[in-house]
Amino acid sequence: MGLKTYPDRILRVRCRPLKEVTDQDLAQAQRMLDLMYESDGIGLAGPQVGWDRRIVTLDIEREGKGERIFINPRILHSEGEVEEEEGCLSVPGIWAPVQRAAKITLAAYTIRGERVEQELEGLPARAWQHEMDHLNGILFLDRLEPTALMTFRQRLRELEEGARENESQ
Ligand code: ZN
Repeated sequence: MGLKTYPDRILRVRCRPLKEVTDQDLAQAQRMLDLMYESDGIGLAGPQVGWDRRIVTLDIEREGKGERIFINPRILHSEGEVEEEEGCLSVPGIWAPVQRAAKITLAAYTIRGERVEQELEGLPARAWQHEMDHLNGILFLDRLEPTALMTFRQRLRELEEGARENESQ
């Protein structure tokens, strides 16, 4: 399992829900979690590891404990607006301010099928909105103003050319 990066097409897929969690799914989710820590990330969504399912691993505190694998998450409510710098493991080398809701109410299922509901703000709210976007094939780049995106044109071209070279090898 490897990290998928821009412009990989899997990052543009709208992911399907997981109807049941098989042992194979569990093993894959665990590998996803390992990869998240190895990559120094606080969150990872299915498509980032080539898995087109609505699954997210998240550990904001990076403490390695508590519920860290979430299935079929949904944002039930969002309010307010806040802009903060954001980056993405799948778009290495780019950080930019992104506008997000300030507060959200999130519902998801654990790997044991328990429903959890959380009211979040600050970094957890931002991280969740970022991961939810991934499940819908949206990258944080899509949320930048065109003029801001222009600033990163060179870097995006490098990523695109790097992907083409890998393909032709
Ligand atoms: Zn991301």
